[in-house]
Amino acid sequence: MKFETLAIHSGERPDKTYGAISVPIYQTSTFAFEDVGKTRGYDYSRTANPTRKVLEDTIAQLEGGKAGFAFATGMAAETTVIHLLKAGDHVIAGDDIYGGTYRLFQNVMRDFGLEFTFLRMDNQERIEKAVKPNTKMLWLETPSNPLLNIVDLEMAADIAKKHKLLTVIDNTFATPYFLRPIEYGIDLVVHSTTKYLNGHCDVVGGAVVTTTDELTERVQFLLNAMGTSASPFDCWLVLRGIETLPVRMKQHEENAFAIANYLKGHPKVKKVYYPGLESHPGHEIARRQMKGFGGMVSFNIKDGISEVNSFLKRIKIFVLAESMGGVASLADHAATMTHASMPEEARRKAGITNQLIRLSVGLENIDDLIEDLGQALEFS
Ligand SMILES: *Cc1c(COP(=O)(O)O)cnc(C)c1O
Repeated sequence: MKFETLAIHSGERPDKTYGAISVPIYQTSTFAFEDVGKTRGYDYSRTANPTRKVLEDTIAQLEGGKAGFAFATGMAAETTVIHLLKAGDHVIAGDDIYGGTYRLFQNVMRDFGLEFTFLRMDNQERIEKAVKPNTKMLWLETPSNPLLNIVDLEMAADIAKKHKLLTVIDNTFATPYFLRPIEYGIDLVVHSTTKYLNGHCDVVGGAVVTTTDELTERVQFLLNAMGTSASPFDCWLVLRGIETLPVRMKQHEENAFAIANYLKGHPKVKKVYYPGLESHPGHEIARRQMKGFGGMVSFNIKDGISEVNSFLKRIKIFVLAESMGGVASLADHAATMTHASMPEEARRKAGITNQLIRLSVGLENIDDLIEDLGQALEFS
């Protein structure tokens, strides 16, 4: 079956009890045993839940992996995955990863004895130079947040194979509709389902997709032991979102492309970051490994911080807010919002300037969106 069909029919659908087309919300903490020592497949919802199972099977199918797991948040998914490692292990991660991921690694996991090196993931030699005897994991994000840098997944998988590293990719930005990392040899895919997979800004959630029985068993163990799993209702919302993921992603991309082209020619704009533009340094790789370029566009406003503030005050349809991937267009000032947890020095090194604005381009009419940006850029 093709992607659009899998998004609607994966997992146990219709429900086997009464044939419900909408996946039932099994809002229960515990399940009656059939007999002593015999369950009907479920005993306690932290461990497993039938609503969650449909979502987990659906995400696994969309990513082309072995098994899926649904978590309370994207960070719960990432926290669980990083616990595959032990004190003394070393991780190489992108220097432009999600701010919350950076904070988890740097301000939490370091205290538990994990070591981290952050670098730009665009050069094989640079990455291999950072590999140490205790390096166990490569943590990737592509397109990255907020600069939309592209990581060549074939190259990353190649390095990982050579040095026996586990590869993890945060596929939140591209979604499996545009990028299927497992096809390039990546071991684990993580998601914040809060974003495009759910798509309506009404839930926080996370997901992990595995590629081997060993990883499946370990992630299931950790999810249950750490209690990071998602609630049935949240899973149902994400399931409903995923049904329209293909049509939404197509429109997000079409709108984002139009906005990137508009901004690129605007006199108040210094630089536009969109992997679909030929001027983007990762354009060739993105074109090769992705089915589309996604719905995120970042740009630098010319001049100073007061111009940025004027722009952000003037936008009307775009809402000044963190998060992304929903039907409504949002604008984010990375330095003071999503990436505020990153120290100034780390931000500067990664190229996240104070003039950088990140747009999550929604599904409104494109003429209205461009008009809104145009009037907001008319500050003096
Ligand atoms: C939002 C986000 C996360 C964290 O997910 P939450 O659901 O907010 O916990 C992780 N990675 C990326 C790329 C994100 O955009």
